[in-house]
Amino acid sequence: MAKNSILATAMANFDKAAALLGGEVDTELLAKIRQPRERIEITLGPQLGDKKLHLFRAFLVRHSEALGPSKGGIRMTPGVTLDDVTGLAMEMTWKCALIGVPFGGGKSGIVADSTGMDKFDKETLVRSYARNASRHIGPQVYVPAPDMGTNERDMGHIKDAISFSKGQATTQGCYVTGKPVILGGIPGRREATGSGVVICVAEAFKALGIEMQGATAVVQGFGNVGAIAAKVLQESGASVIAVGDLYGAVTNEKGLDIDALIEHVAKAGSVKDFAGGSAGDGQKMLEIPCDVLVPAASANQITADNAPRISAKIIAEGANGPTSPKADEILTERGVFMIPDILCNAGGVFVSYLEFTQETQQEQMTEQEVQTRLQQRMAEKFAHVHELAHERKLSMRDAAMYLGVSTVCSAMIARGYLS
Ligand code: NAD
Repeated sequence: MAKNSILATAMANFDKAAALLGGEVDTELLAKIRQPRERIEITLGPQLGDKKLHLFRAFLVRHSEALGPSKGGIRMTPGVTLDDVTGLAMEMTWKCALIGVPFGGGKSGIVADSTGMDKFDKETLVRSYARNASRHIGPQVYVPAPDMGTNERDMGHIKDAISFSKGQATTQGCYVTGKPVILGGIPGRREATGSGVVICVAEAFKALGIEMQGATAVVQGFGNVGAIAAKVLQESGASVIAVGDLYGAVTNEKGLDIDALIEHVAKAGSVKDFAGGSAGDGQKMLEIPCDVLVPAASANQITADNAPRISAKIIAEGANGPTSPKADEILTERGVFMIPDILCNAGGVFVSYLEFTQETQQEQMTEQEVQTRLQQRMAEKFAHVHELAHERKLSMRDAAMYLGVSTVCSAMIARGYLS
């Protein structure tokens, strides 16, 4: 396991929580829940538009089912590994427990570059994943959702592939979340993670006495999470002064026009060359002084190397595992207020849970209901974590992990954990 890998970060965060829980929970139980329940490796071999067979590796990890079926997105990136998927599934276990939804942690990975992939080839690949992984997917087993490199459209294809394979017009119950509303998706799911990030930022501002109006924000990553977080921050009165993605960065100290930037990215595929700002450096951008820095791209962007130069008052982790454990220590010592990923980006899985219940009960929720419930749940969980951090003099991450891990332990004890 490589140092600073997603799995190493997840393990280090767990070990700190386990040390805090050591006196309260059986150490054998802690050793058991540290391990993934199932790690599956699949070979996909679809025929793509060039009429040739292409081999792709895919992974599916169910880390825990103590609280319910495993839940977690499908990552499609060229570098994703089985260990990454294991670390991400593990983080999902604590996230679901912390945010209070009856799911365990899971995750999938498809080793492929979705950027610029022909849309029919992507559909073929996603359908191949759905067919080959279908025995591991289901409302009582594992329920996937979008993650980096996959989106709403892909989730629609997964639902169609599974219902088609059963000879049915639809699935019985929820097999996938984050799908188009017209196929049983829920209004507001696409925006949920980014909106949840901003709800946490607003709570942190209140705690630190910072006014949202006129506050400055820097956002790394301009995909599903980053673009929505930037848009909602701007709508709430903050000024987004820098945004970066895989291809470059753009800055404007007066504030970027996020709607115009979204339009630019839809055409150009990147924030690069946006006329409403100056070109910036993707890595240096993280060090720009601001009230809140939102890493919403990939893991390990904030490391021991750049942490001493980060000048944000708050770091709101939209991404999973963006901060290495060493960087976390440095930033906490420097008094930077960290909103850890398992809390900050949990809005997506919370609204996935609403989608799951809506589909199970054959109901329909309005966008307003979804937003109200998201706002209440995120603010309530932020308050729990913040209070515990204050009472026990813990970092926000340690407090969040303590709550997540202890909830999973309680579920294991309630089930009896002899198997
Ligand atoms: P996405 O694929 O929609 O967008 C990712 C963005 O990050 C793109 O703009 C890409 O160019 C940029 N990026 C990737 N690597 C980068 C790098 N090294 N430096 C700078 N920019 C980089 O993905 P997403 O769904 O927005 O997910 C982003 C992060 O949020 C991931 O860590 C994901 O696990 C996490 N997350 C997503 C959801 C969700 O609902 N989509 C939920 C919880 C957490």
